[in-house]
Amino acid sequence: MSRAEDILKSHGLRSTEIRREVINQLLNVGKAITHQDMETAMPKADRVTLYRTLTSLQEAGIIHQVVDDETVKKYALCGGGCSQDHHHDNHVHFKCTSCGDTRCLENVVIPAVNLPKGYVMESEDLLVQGVCPECA
Ligand SMILES: [Zn+2]
Ligand SMILES: [Zn+2]
Ligand SMILES: [Zn+2]
Repeated sequence: MSRAEDILKSHGLRSTEIRREVINQLLNVGKAITHQDMETAMPKADRVTLYRTLTSLQEAGIIHQVVDDETVKKYALCGGGCSQDHHHDNHVHFKCTSCGDTRCLENVVIPAVNLPKGYVMESEDLLVQGVCPECA
């Protein structure tokens, strides 16, 4: 069984070609990529199917959205602790100002944020910008 099949199976999703392709692409690039990046790499894939695939992979706890300073959404693979409707991607995202890549720093946990009384947190994102090891 391939790594992609293994990931799908462990999250209870049926293994389809497009799901495997998306996961393999994310495994190969090792950084956050946009819907457009995926489309370019998978010219055969139908736009709507790809969109649905991203939604189902996100719901299953396989990929998460990465918020950086660009307006387009990016996606990256989850570290493994995520499941259906339960994401635990509380790690820092790093955007390189030189090559423009945004990566998950899986081992760098977002520090605890204490909100003032009356504020209820629904999600948190921490983007650090700077120069990555490849560009340093
Ligand atoms: Zn996740
Ligand atoms: Zn870089
Ligand atoms: Zn991430």
